[in-house]
Amino acid sequence: MNTEKRVRVRFAPSPTGGLHMGGVRTALFNYLFAKKHNGDFILRIEDTDQNRYVKGAEDYIIESLKWCGIEPNEGVGFGDGPYAPYRQSERKETGIYRKYAEKLIEAGGAYYAFDTEEELEEMRKRLEAAKVVSPQYNHITRMNMRNSLTLSHDEVQKLLDSGVPYVIRLKVPRNEEIRFYDIIRGWIVVNSSTIDDKVLLKSDGMPTYHLAHIVDDIEMKISHVIRGEEWLPSAPAHVLTYRYLGLEKDMPQLAHLPLILKPDGKGKLSKRDTSGLPMFPLNWYDERTGESYIGYRESGFFPEAFINMLALLGWNPGNNQEILSKEEMIQLFSLEKVHKAGAKFDPEKTKWFNQQYLRKKDKYELAELLMPILKENNIEADKDYVAQVCELMKEKAYFVKDIWEMGKYMFIEPSSYDEKIIQKKWTAESQSVIVELLNLLKETKPFTAENIHHTFEQFTKEKGKIDYQLLRTLVTGVSSGPSLANILEILGFEKVQQRIEKAIQTLSSVKS
Ligand code: GLU
Repeated sequence: MNTEKRVRVRFAPSPTGGLHMGGVRTALFNYLFAKKHNGDFILRIEDTDQNRYVKGAEDYIIESLKWCGIEPNEGVGFGDGPYAPYRQSERKETGIYRKYAEKLIEAGGAYYAFDTEEELEEMRKRLEAAKVVSPQYNHITRMNMRNSLTLSHDEVQKLLDSGVPYVIRLKVPRNEEIRFYDIIRGWIVVNSSTIDDKVLLKSDGMPTYHLAHIVDDIEMKISHVIRGEEWLPSAPAHVLTYRYLGLEKDMPQLAHLPLILKPDGKGKLSKRDTSGLPMFPLNWYDERTGESYIGYRESGFFPEAFINMLALLGWNPGNNQEILSKEEMIQLFSLEKVHKAGAKFDPEKTKWFNQQYLRKKDKYELAELLMPILKENNIEADKDYVAQVCELMKEKAYFVKDIWEMGKYMFIEPSSYDEKIIQKKWTAESQSVIVELLNLLKETKPFTAENIHHTFEQFTKEKGKIDYQLLRTLVTGVSSGPSLANILEILGFEKVQQRIEKAIQTLSSVKS
């Protein structure tokens, strides 16, 4: 295998549905690898299976990659490079796949097969009756079928000329060793007798994935194929195809990424099993089933947090560092450090990543993100004020929307007060303490958290204990939250006074 080629990798999804987080991770690892080696990252759309084509899936892939900040530098939606087109349905028009299929036939590595659906079904039944565990079209069974290995040259020519439908199959030899190196898994050895004669070109002239991706990888000068583990079982057939084309030594290096597992480690992660977190990067509506799925973006995740979480599903930089910027990931990434064992998806950790990124954000950046939520709730507030609230609330928030949920009272005067606290603590006596404290707060100038603390201390020394929880409840309506002095400072004395007076009024009218 050639190791000195310019690094060119591709993400090659099929537009058969919403791109899920497993697919995004594959794209991410390709991206990181390409950037690390100053190479190219290509987006190729593998749309040869027209029956499974889903409208909108391609745009969804493009938008998802953009949102994640892992943009290809060549390919569909990102500007054509030297190997356009990048959609297999368009590439088919150039005749390139048929050309390769015929080359394979000439080399003795493929053959025509004329079997009808009924004949194939009959074969399956025959094999099942003979208790064959996995009935296949292979080096044994093909000799009983209608193909260019069993028919005479003339018969084959006649059939081809008469236009009867046929497929082209890979001719897998009996009992040959197929060896290949996977960067993540090491050497893999498979006996060819276990492999079926895969269809390379279908009767409608469309190539299958097996042929199309090999042709494109060759033509697009792909150096490394980084893809999901589910493609590992067909890799030996691909190696064989390269062998027949005389290109085995030059074939791309392979790296099959580990599966992403359910949180309990039992089986592959599925969209029904993500413990309440999304499976998709963006909202996805499945037209076929009518089901809608919420995306990470719409759930309030930051793209940086999302890709940081994904990067560590199966890889780690080897230094226990968990929070990694994209630049750090690029610098530290290596396929050798990707594990082969499945990686468990951890929903709590996923939220934790978002929290870490939220904490790192500047208060004005957060304010910018909170503004639309405030607008939705008909709140008009000054940017500086919003920034202060963000700073105050961000410690406990996982998402920007939490700042709103937890800090509503910084924008809206409470209209009710935690009942338990009021029941327990609201008395004529506690009321007079609060009023007295309010008088002292009025003299606290400037009205900063530090001075407010001072006032609290002074009051405690001279007049007696302050029930902070009660005071908090009167000002905010709720009994817990961030530092009370900070809340008071941000609200400002006037609002604090207004709120306390309103609370006294409301509560005395309720109690009397
Ligand atoms: N079209 C394949 C998919 O949908 C690509 C596999 C590959 O990367 O070779 O996953």
